[in-house]
Amino acid sequence: MTFTRSFRLLFIWPLILISTLVIGQEQQQEANIHQIIQQHSAEIFDSLVEIRRNFHRNPEAAGEEVKTSAKIIEYLQNLGLEVHQNIGGNGVVGILKTNKKGKKIAWRADIDALKTDLPDVVSYESKNKGVRHICGHDIHASVALGIANVLSKIKDQLSGTIYFIFQPAEENWQGAKAMIDDGLFEIIDPEEIYALHLSPMPEGIIATRAKNLFADYKVIQLKFDKKEDASELTNYVKNLLENLQNVTNDSPFWDMQTLMDPELGLINPNTIFKDYVTLNSEVFINENEENLIVKVALSASDPDKLNSLLKQLKSEISHSEFSEKLIEIQFTEEIALVLNDKKLTEDAIQQISEVYGKQSSINLHGIIPDGRSDDFAYFQQKIPGVYFLMGGSNYQKGIISMPHSPNFNVDENCIKTGVQYFSSLIAEKLK
Ligand SMILES: [Zn+2]
Ligand SMILES: [Zn+2]
Repeated sequence: MTFTRSFRLLFIWPLILISTLVIGQEQQQEANIHQIIQQHSAEIFDSLVEIRRNFHRNPEAAGEEVKTSAKIIEYLQNLGLEVHQNIGGNGVVGILKTNKKGKKIAWRADIDALKTDLPDVVSYESKNKGVRHICGHDIHASVALGIANVLSKIKDQLSGTIYFIFQPAEENWQGAKAMIDDGLFEIIDPEEIYALHLSPMPEGIIATRAKNLFADYKVIQLKFDKKEDASELTNYVKNLLENLQNVTNDSPFWDMQTLMDPELGLINPNTIFKDYVTLNSEVFINENEENLIVKVALSASDPDKLNSLLKQLKSEISHSEFSEKLIEIQFTEEIALVLNDKKLTEDAIQQISEVYGKQSSINLHGIIPDGRSDDFAYFQQKIPGVYFLMGGSNYQKGIISMPHSPNFNVDENCIKTGVQYFSSLIAEKLK
């Protein structure tokens, strides 16, 4: 499909430049365990940066993560975790058991890099020509290793089990499925699952929302019987599809800057990114002797809107003069949606805010339009969980962590932030 991923990439990863937000100084003297977490995170920070740069220098594309996996396995084994490897390709699972029975929680990190000729912007650039960590999975893997390290140090204060899933091949959407198909959930049986992705928000902030974080995306195709001139039918179908869109062409919706606008953007309860249906490609018309085939990509903030669309369009067409002509209407492409569990999301935002200050953890009200999703969605179809966006930008230093963008770069301090916030989140659940 030509107008899917590459088209959608234009829209990915909105700049949620909430630059005025700084982590609150009100980090309170909460339970002792979080101070220990912060201390351990600070202690291992330099070594995690080292590991991250090693991943960055030696990136491996989807399906080729052999050396990356080996490094992960070695690190987890040194921590004393039970390690399973070659799950769904180069997938790795580390199991951290405490001495007490309790909740079973999974943390997932994706580990693959991207094939790209865009030159690297850092001094520790990729040594693997044509492959680069331009989506931040080197950071994701390092954060996960850091969480495993910190939690293994305090495991005597915890109960239950923590599973660390290192997933290959996220970029081609094959890794999560492959791991599941290869028996991942026969090895582990988590009750909750979490993951993060870097975003252009400032370092020190994480954000998410209950339910879907990204718009739903589907390609719809209508096939008509066409005996003679089809110009009227073509106009009718074009209109029918174009009228589905409820955002006007002159709306600030289309300006990426609006996503970060305090009034209209994602963080405001009255955001304009709350209830929308848009056409995400032109309406493609294909004619032959027999048939007229019409195709368009759509996205919607509410997945139910697209789910009921086939029925709705069928009904509308059946009441038109072209009711006899419709042969077939179907979705030819759909993506699995990242769907966050409501309660787990609310709990997570609250727990992280309580330890790291109100500004550390943001509840988004809007849904990122036409954003790319993540195959973490397949895990969420099995286990309730939450997908977080983690800020990696530092505007003062000119660092913007917009994944897949040519100048993609990360303030490595976010590694420490991620290790702290999410170690605290998991510890809070297993205390
Ligand atoms: Zn990516
Ligand atoms: Zn990614």
